[in-house]
Amino acid sequence: MSGLAHDLRTVARFSDRDDQITRLAWSPAHVEAMRWMVGEATALGLDAGIDAAGNVVARWGPATGPALAVGSHLDSVPDAGRLDGVLGVLAALAAVRRLQAQGFTPRRPVWVIAFMDEEGARFGTPLFGSRAFVGEDLEPSLAAVDADGVSIADAMRKAGFTPDRLGDACAIDRVGAYLELHIEQGPVLEKAGADIGVVRAISGGAVLAVGFTGHAGHAGTVPMDMRRDALVGGARAIVALRDAALGGGDLRITVGRIAAHPGGTNVIPGGCELSVDIRSADPDALDRGRDVVGRIVERIASEEGLQGSVRTLTEFAPLQLDETIIATVARAAAAESAVALDVVSGAGHDALVIGRAVPAGMIFVPSRNGISHHPEEATSADQCELGERVLARAIRALAGQDTNGGEIDERRDSGGQAGRAAFRPPAGSRVHRGAVGPGDGAAGAAG
Ligand SMILES: [Zn+2]
Repeated sequence: MSGLAHDLRTVARFSDRDDQITRLAWSPAHVEAMRWMVGEATALGLDAGIDAAGNVVARWGPATGPALAVGSHLDSVPDAGRLDGVLGVLAALAAVRRLQAQGFTPRRPVWVIAFMDEEGARFGTPLFGSRAFVGEDLEPSLAAVDADGVSIADAMRKAGFTPDRLGDACAIDRVGAYLELHIEQGPVLEKAGADIGVVRAISGGAVLAVGFTGHAGHAGTVPMDMRRDALVGGARAIVALRDAALGGGDLRITVGRIAAHPGGTNVIPGGCELSVDIRSADPDALDRGRDVVGRIVERIASEEGLQGSVRTLTEFAPLQLDETIIATVARAAAAESAVALDVVSGAGHDALVIGRAVPAGMIFVPSRNGISHHPEEATSADQCELGERVLARAIRALAGQDTNGGEIDERRDSGGQAGRAAFRPPAGSRVHRGAVGPGDGAAGAAG
């Protein structure tokens, strides 16, 4: 068994429950996994510790200069698989191990990071660690409570941490670039027969609350042609939104929640609420999606004699990943003779947060049957290891002296904010784009 496969088995045993993998943020099992990682990284000679927000940070190489951060997360959703987040962290450690065995010495710091609470499954505070890492003020989130009424602050204290120094976790000004390996969590790579996803962008989106108001009435006495049934409006909207999103382009629309009021079996629904989740990596498509929702709600409301409303609950912008890192990942995949495909990430990741502050890239490996957030989540051992080898090559290129790699340039904003380091190709080198195909999932095979 490879070191990576062994480590994946080890971390799978850190669970809040005996009968499933559940590692909620700040739970004893999660903190145990964090401490295990500190031990593993220390054994590799890295300077490892846990920051004020619960991020495990393990530093390799020179003490100064803009670091290449490589990581993901160790927390999980309830009844999770073994790979979401964990693979990215363990592959980063395995890549360091591989590079050390090759005698490679990084020319700039390489930080292996496991971010705290990416999932947000316990407190409803996703991306907590990466947001603290980039300096977002998370004091207000400390009061968020889990299903048992335990706050983040309580959970931190119980795990032996002090919640009042969150600001100390901000270290983005010492980071020049970010790289994350993750399972795809969707079916695109497997369907295309690809081993590696070269991620070009991370989808943004919005969650909207759509409402229809009609008139409640007796199920037996109001004739069918005299009704103003709000749930019929909702049902028609669900189908119309699905059909509109099927129209092509990078746009996904999902109704995940529906409520009818008053909710009696013998009462015509006078009110209906839907949650509408819109996702795309293309800002124009997101705008189009919002327009589509507005138009459909308006049309159906008028046809059904209802009042329609659309309210925005949350929204987040998509993120284009860094071209130089994308090219570096594509070259690394080609060097491993991997079948690589350009993809867009439909899910959010720590890279979405870190990548707004510094140039970022992501590597995907296939998810069997596209399943994730489920015990059946799986990627073959060979594909996991191939992903790790591609990651190791990319680290070597980005943190080493390879003329193929990008240089991390300490170009600082004059605004005094956390500086935004930028990548530029080293002088005299050319960024090879041959391995990179179109960004919409069309065949972009490399190697
Ligand atoms: Zn994840």
